[in-house]
Amino acid sequence: MSVAESEKELSVYESMAARFDVAARKLNLDEGLCHYLRMPNREIIVHIPVMLDSGKLAVFDGYRVQHSIARGPCKGGVRFSPHVTLDEMRGLAAEMTWKCAVVNIPFGGAKGGVVCDPAKLSQGELERITRRYTAEILDYIGPERDVPAPDMNTNEQTMAWIMDTYSMHVRHTVTASVTGKPLDLGGSRGRRAATGRGCMIATDQALKRFGWKREATRVIIQGFGNVGSQAARLMHEAGYRIIGVADIGGGIFNTHGLDIAQLIEYVKEHRTVRGFPGGESIGPQEILEQDCEVLLPAATESVINSKNARKIKARILSEGANSPTTPPADDILFERGVFVIPDILANSGGVTVSYFEWVQDRQGYFWPEGMVNERLKHIMVNAFNDVVGYGERHNVNNRIAAYMLAIDRVAFSIKLRGIYA
Ligand code: GLU
Repeated sequence: MSVAESEKELSVYESMAARFDVAARKLNLDEGLCHYLRMPNREIIVHIPVMLDSGKLAVFDGYRVQHSIARGPCKGGVRFSPHVTLDEMRGLAAEMTWKCAVVNIPFGGAKGGVVCDPAKLSQGELERITRRYTAEILDYIGPERDVPAPDMNTNEQTMAWIMDTYSMHVRHTVTASVTGKPLDLGGSRGRRAATGRGCMIATDQALKRFGWKREATRVIIQGFGNVGSQAARLMHEAGYRIIGVADIGGGIFNTHGLDIAQLIEYVKEHRTVRGFPGGESIGPQEILEQDCEVLLPAATESVINSKNARKIKARILSEGANSPTTPPADDILFERGVFVIPDILANSGGVTVSYFEWVQDRQGYFWPEGMVNERLKHIMVNAFNDVVGYGERHNVNNRIAAYMLAIDRVAFSIKLRGIYA
């Protein structure tokens, strides 16, 4: 079987498991513990009835997969997409456990989602889906149990609905039941930009290692949702040259650099970067293969795979999305000397500021934005040095180093707690 053929069969969970197996073997992890850590603690499947605006009753499938509570409550986003599957939730829930452990925050991992196409649903329909989904998983979530957050196609408004539904059921307002909320409902300053900011902080650290200046660094960003657009804005403001941006509708490219402030205005009106007058148009796949120093995939899974990994010209891959690279592509990138900042490190800024939000809600005391950003930087720089240092000491690539570091921390907590019988 060729690499491309075997790769086709690797689902999101299998990709996670393949990396887990390599890391666990290198850690000499006990077989039983290995088995335990590979599987989620709990998988919740719900079928939610929702009245559509047309008066028709529709049923949507929803999931919440809780991978681990070894280091604290579960933490992870809820996504709305037609492509949501139980397998994807399983893989991403485990990745959340590793991500929280990499940045050393006291959470385990979870992921949730509803199979639906938000582009075809009204606000009212989305609200009813969100509330009924929350009601169905209510017994399993909460500040001490599992704390949802935004993910693909969900946002601050979605979190406000989840928080309100939860609060109505328990009969008092529980702001710490979700993170990524609006500021006026207990959200944290800096949360909206946190994932993009974290990507920049991690990329800055990689630049330092190469001895490069931001001004001489060309960046290509795939995806212009919350992560991609915030990373583009912050990196542009910090002096990076953003030469290409793509979203699902198409891409635009300008070797002299794109005006990101203008692009953001354009996207507000046109809902896509396609047709932006400040650059030439380019295909969303083709853009990945252009000459640049930093490639920042911030859209979806498996966009860098064995079919295009050899054509990637970037020297640094900063993974804003979850699971954008497949395991076979990892090997190719490593061989070719691409410096990969793995997703569980590069995009961990979001969950880190979610942790700050949870802490602030529980204390009822809110921090200024400068403090949030400073503390985020401190955590991410430490995590970057931990991962890269670990990789150098154990002679493994950054991805496996991040997994090893994370698995080791989670395994240690489990050993300390012991197995309840
Ligand atoms: N959905 C984001 C992620 O994949 C954030 C999760 C959170 O803040 O809990 O990291």
